[in-house]
Amino acid sequence: MIDFLLEANKKKDEILRDIAQLCQIPSVLDPTTATTGAPFGVACREALDCMLEIGKRDGFECDNVDGYAGHIDIGTGKETLGILGHLDVVPVNHEGWSTPPFEMVEKDGILYGRGVADDKGPLIAAYYAAKIVNELLPNPKLKMRIIFGCDEENGSSCMKYYFTKQPFPDMGFTPDADFPVVYGEKALAHYHLRGDIPQDNIIGIYGGVAANVVSEHCEAYVQGSYKQYKETFKAYLKEHSLNGSIEEEGNHTKFNIIGKAAHASTPDEGISAIVYLCHYLATISSNELVKFIDQYFYKDTHGKKLELMERGQMGVTTTNIGILHYKDGYVNSVVDFRLPHELSETELNSAISHAVQPLGLEIDYNYTPALFNDPKGEYIQTLHQAYVDLTGDTENQPQAIGGGTYAKTMPNCVAFGCQFPGKDHKMHQNDEEISIDDLIKACAIYAKAIYDLNQI
Ligand SMILES: [Zn+2]
Repeated sequence: MIDFLLEANKKKDEILRDIAQLCQIPSVLDPTTATTGAPFGVACREALDCMLEIGKRDGFECDNVDGYAGHIDIGTGKETLGILGHLDVVPVNHEGWSTPPFEMVEKDGILYGRGVADDKGPLIAAYYAAKIVNELLPNPKLKMRIIFGCDEENGSSCMKYYFTKQPFPDMGFTPDADFPVVYGEKALAHYHLRGDIPQDNIIGIYGGVAANVVSEHCEAYVQGSYKQYKETFKAYLKEHSLNGSIEEEGNHTKFNIIGKAAHASTPDEGISAIVYLCHYLATISSNELVKFIDQYFYKDTHGKKLELMERGQMGVTTTNIGILHYKDGYVNSVVDFRLPHELSETELNSAISHAVQPLGLEIDYNYTPALFNDPKGEYIQTLHQAYVDLTGDTENQPQAIGGGTYAKTMPNCVAFGCQFPGKDHKMHQNDEEISIDDLIKACAIYAKAIYDLNQI
């Protein structure tokens, strides 16, 4: 019986050294320095070169695919297991970090720095897991191909490009989400709605920052003196326990509501400022846009009124009107939909067209299909069992999520770790962190899973 935790612990110093090296590179998307061979800017290219150097140093075959992504091949074998991680990171705030963000700092067994958890740390943990298996298994069935891209945070164009130049591995996982294992990711669609809608008494409405975020702020400008709205609006804020304000601005009135931001895949954790403001505006205006939003989105984050509510094996449909911009009678809005695989793109499209048709708006959309792997199938079961063996946790089961990972870029791929249940790595936030123990345990789980996949 191999003690994978012991094996992973033997690699601890090397793992930390390599993560530290990658974290020094501020590999944030930078179109201003993009060139041929560095499509996402020089820093992303530098991170790619650094990872390729690590593979070469260890004596493996490496390949760079035009600066979009690269791979390291470990071992031989007829079938290929792909391990997909990313080297790009999201930007950092200039204030709010307790340590220099582009430096891996260790304090009391915790690593801090941009990328330690998303996704440089987990990528290195998985790389060492493959190395461990390579050392332990003389005639592996699976070749391990570590694939790393440079544009995951901005749409994964890196991996899409990579797979136009390289074959799909037979199966794969991406260490860029949660343990135990993610067997499903909902379909994702962003609908852009644009066009003219008569103003009635609405001068403008502005809310939201991104399609995939529940709007925290929304303001509206309405004709008429603030005296006529003051009482009802204040009562409305109180009734719904909302923060907001109403002000007189010349001969019109400015309304403002502060909601609560949340990721669009979990809209119930937020409070949509756009929806709550439109719900109020619908009581003081006959504007068709306001009525549309009120009708289809108020107290409905699951597409019930659009007839898109579906509670499938992956959970329930979610909807989020992330951006609303309405000025001079012209609307520009983006709505985020996440759908279980039981709902088709055609069903989604016809429901949206039906609802939007009376407004006469122009619709265009982008759609990424759902990913669904049988949670009872051998592949998911093997990964899950490796997690159970190393943690003893039989309570947390394979799950489905609303977010999208690299797993959607190739067939037979799932997200696998490395955030443990109950942990918060503060990804995309100040003071991103991961504990050394969790990283080493993740490495051991990956090694056990890869080892066991070789025995099937
Ligand atoms: Zn990530």
